[in-house]
Amino acid sequence: MKNLAKILLSVCILLISLILIMLSAALFDFLPIDWSILLVVLSSITFIIALIAAILMDYSAGDYECRKCGQRFKPTLSAYVWGAHTLTTRYLKCPHCKEKSFCKRRLSE
Ligand SMILES: [Zn+2]
Repeated sequence: MKNLAKILLSVCILLISLILIMLSAALFDFLPIDWSILLVVLSSITFIIALIAAILMDYSAGDYECRKCGQRFKPTLSAYVWGAHTLTTRYLKCPHCKEKSFCKRRLSE
């Protein structure tokens, strides 16, 4: 699968599961209480699974380029998950020069 498609798919999965949570919250008052709780629990579980799937898909879609030395590297999964990020950069420690910077994301082919 193309990496851009992976990213788009992960965003779509997340959006759909978010919509499910909002729907179940909106229906909370209109359904019997047992059904409402079941719906909220199910949509929360779906969201957690979707989040993990999205993280793994996004993580596998490319590597990062160091701002200081220009080397490309693949961060560890925990550094990837906990690193502060924007859409195209992530705050990571470069394994080559050991400096921390907002590394640019490079999609691999
Ligand atoms: Zn570096």
